[in-house]
Amino acid sequence: MVAINWFRCVGLCCVLLVISWSGCVADEGWFWHVTDFHYDFSYTDLDLSCNDDVTNHGEYGNYWCDAPWRLVESSVEAMKRFKPDVDFILWTGDSVLHTGDEHLSIDINDGILSNITNLLVEKFKSTPVYATFGNHDYYPDAQFPPSNNELYNRTLENWLTWITDEGEKENFLKGGYYSVVTAHGIRVLALNTNLYYTSDKLTGNLIDPAGQFAWLETLLADAVTRKEKVLITGHVPPGMVDTMSKSWMYDHFNTKMNEIIRKYSDVIIGLHFGHEHMDNFRVYTKSDTPVVTMFLAPSVTPWRYKIPSKTGAAHNPAIRLVQYDRQTGRHLNMITYYMDLPASNAQGIPQWAEEYNATRDYNIDDLSPNSMNKLALRMSSSNSLEFNNYWKWRVVNVQDAMMEECGEACKANVVCQFHHVDQSTYDACVLKAVGKSSCLLQSLVTVLISVLTCLATYT
Ligand SMILES: [Zn+2]
Ligand SMILES: [Zn+2]
Repeated sequence: MVAINWFRCVGLCCVLLVISWSGCVADEGWFWHVTDFHYDFSYTDLDLSCNDDVTNHGEYGNYWCDAPWRLVESSVEAMKRFKPDVDFILWTGDSVLHTGDEHLSIDINDGILSNITNLLVEKFKSTPVYATFGNHDYYPDAQFPPSNNELYNRTLENWLTWITDEGEKENFLKGGYYSVVTAHGIRVLALNTNLYYTSDKLTGNLIDPAGQFAWLETLLADAVTRKEKVLITGHVPPGMVDTMSKSWMYDHFNTKMNEIIRKYSDVIIGLHFGHEHMDNFRVYTKSDTPVVTMFLAPSVTPWRYKIPSKTGAAHNPAIRLVQYDRQTGRHLNMITYYMDLPASNAQGIPQWAEEYNATRDYNIDDLSPNSMNKLALRMSSSNSLEFNNYWKWRVVNVQDAMMEECGEACKANVVCQFHHVDQSTYDACVLKAVGKSSCLLQSLVTVLISVLTCLATYT
């Protein structure tokens, strides 16, 4: 008879339990996303970016102007204070202020990019930063050429600690895009989507500026073969813009980007872009199944858009922290922090605080496409509490008195952009939604007329 060594047996079971348990528990990591600093070096002096006459120059900025250095610095200090030990940082461009080309040059723009690069390195030391260009970073404004140029050369020199692979350096010098694999094996594709922006007059007639689409498809196909997880980041996002009812991109580029994203959605863990200055998201679907989410981070600059016919919303500076599973890439949560600009200026001390915690405050399980799709569906119902919160957080917690109203037509546009990234399906969605609301209005008018007729008849 074989004697059972109970002690050994229990020990083995414990080891197996620990191994299988560790397979069940997510290996959680964090990354920062910071975007659209728009540093105005002339604040309090020439006020080159300011959209209105500013008499009160708060130390941390003004809603009508781009960010003074004190705000740029304070944003990065806040990132460091809230979460110093992140796996990496996404920095999605537009570091240069909003002003005319006559006030800028390659030297000035390169100087601004260098200043912010140095600040991130100084505060975060060896934490990798995956940086991309914004449309305002080029001189002349937004005119990114689909070929090598002085800004790509100088910026690569600045970002050499973050772009080390020789092949990727070549891609960057050719088109301002590159790929990096994180310490935990996530492949980051850092795009230069400014090449697809409708303001770029050099690329609109091309099929594949700087060969970026071909490169992107090759890497995504490789990722499928190697079973890699891919995070895509860049500045100008694909999809539809609810305030314009069109895409930021030339239509053929938006269509192509969307095709690629859907085709390789199995390996794409998330899309992170900037440019809109608003807190927003879009869900890609394939045969009505949600497959990928795109997150648009709000800007550091509080700058308000203003042209003769339209004034943009005021908003507070923001930074975003994302929690993800290092093994699967699944996005677990997202915390957005904001600076209360008037309070910071009044007290002379930066007032940063948590604005909202996505899973807790939207009551969702995680940030997976499925969860974000459910959230978007809940938002589409009338009097949705989630939509009211989204609308407040979209412009980053400005005081209620400064909030713009979002009526039925506005809401139809917003909700349709959550689900529809292509022009044709977006247009059809808006038409249907507006049709519904005008039908509702017509019904209400009919009821009202009936009531009045009744009253007139029986009184
Ligand atoms: Zn911007
Ligand atoms: Zn931009």
